[in-house]
Amino acid sequence: MLYCLHKASHRIDGLWMLHKVHHNDPYLNVTTAFRLHFLEIILITGMKAVLVIVLGIEKTYLLANELVITFFIMLHHSNIVLLAEELLGWIIITPYLHRVHHSTLRHEHDRNYGAVLSLWDRLFGTLAELKPKEVGVKGYVSQDFIDLISCGLTITNKAPATHTVNLEQMIAVAAYYKAEKRGFYPGNELQDWLEAKSDIISVVYSKKQVKNKLILNEAMLKFLSFLPSTEKHEDRMLTN
Ligand SMILES: [Zn+2]
Repeated sequence: MLYCLHKASHRIDGLWMLHKVHHNDPYLNVTTAFRLHFLEIILITGMKAVLVIVLGIEKTYLLANELVITFFIMLHHSNIVLLAEELLGWIIITPYLHRVHHSTLRHEHDRNYGAVLSLWDRLFGTLAELKPKEVGVKGYVSQDFIDLISCGLTITNKAPATHTVNLEQMIAVAAYYKAEKRGFYPGNELQDWLEAKSDIISVVYSKKQVKNKLILNEAMLKFLSFLPSTEKHEDRMLTN
């Protein structure tokens, strides 16, 4: 069951959305074993609960099974080299084998799905023995708790940091043209900037994101419209 669920988590977009939170750890160690999105934990626990009820599994067997699986999951995420690891890899998923599964390259991380035995990956042709160049997920993903929660609720990763820099440049250019339109009249710099920001955000982001980002901007613009310098400027523009 764990092999199938894990494989599905890599193949189905909605499940990978949650599972990538586990994969985005750039440093593989025992703590990675417990880095799971809360919705993925609910999903796995719910599926286990259904199996326990349907198959009528005894609590002693269930506890023993959970202890063994948890031990092996901690073991294969650990940053250690086992004695005779190559030989052990014929029977169990070792840290060396699982490291491939955390590669940033998709054709490498879609391998070695097993949790305890390497038998399932050998049987279904998903076993790979190689050393990944890099561990984690491609693209920029913040390691903050809140960002990790939201990362598990979005299909793609957040854009790289350079995206923000480009956005700022676009706003600066738009603000310049707005200032030029107003004859570079002093005192309107903030209003120019906020209007430019609203315009650029409307072009770059989706409707839902725009709604959230523009609330503050609109409040600021309304506030600015009551300032004396802006009123004077508007009067001057009208008389001209
Ligand atoms: Zn995985």
